Amino acid sequence: MRFAVFSDLHANLEATEAVLADARQKECTHYICLGDVVGYNANPHECVDLVRKMNCPIVKGNHDEQACLAESSRDFNDLAERAIDWTRANLTADDKQWLSEARMTRQVRDFTIVHATLDTPGEWGYVFNNLDAVASFTYQHTTVCFFGHTHVAGAFVRDDGVKRVRTEQLMIEPGKKYFINTGSVGQPRDGDPRAAYCIYHTDRSVVEQRRIRYDLPKAQRKIVAAGLPRLLAERLELGR
Ligand code: ZN
Repeated sequence: MRFAVFSDLHANLEATEAVLADARQKECTHYICLGDVVGYNANPHECVDLVRKMNCPIVKGNHDEQACLAESSRDFNDLAERAIDWTRANLTADDKQWLSEARMTRQVRDFTIVHATLDTPGEWGYVFNNLDAVASFTYQHTTVCFFGHTHVAGAFVRDDGVKRVRTEQLMIEPGKKYFINTGSVGQPRDGDPRAAYCIYHTDRSVVEQRRIRYDLPKAQRKIVAAGLPRLLAERLELGR
């Protein structure tokens, strides 16, 4: 089987469509969504509709959670807050119902999926370093777990200790554990503006990182036209 694993679409329809087209071309047989379908960019309803129709396993992200609240819980910074206010007003009741039904963690076949961390998935902590990864590994009972939330592609491997590795082509070896960040489809923050996702080739035990060019200027124009903060459009081309 060939799983396309994608996270943090953040209402960027152009990036999402480009990733799904690449996954189809690479003959992916299954699709997995790690959450944050909405927030920041200009097509929350369209992205919800698209992912919903795929009927694939999904876990909830913090922006998905916030979008379903009647009003702000004031957990977000100013930029994210302004975007999520706009997002709430641009999702249907059905969209919110569907987003609110997503679970925090799931096991799919022999791997786990979560948006942020396995130790406290509802607190939305960030796994940026080895110490953060150690806490999550404590709760990881499968060899592989995919996560998102940081918008930074890369993986942590637990063997004797924990180390950080790149994921261009990551061989999954028995006896180790892998906590793998697919990067973000709709708002990468690792300096590479191309949309990110992973393909898990289960037959070869390889995780492959993909970076995909998309119509970024179009996504930017929509953000500005929607009246969303201009900074959200500018950051896309910086990959920050
Ligand atoms: Zn996110």
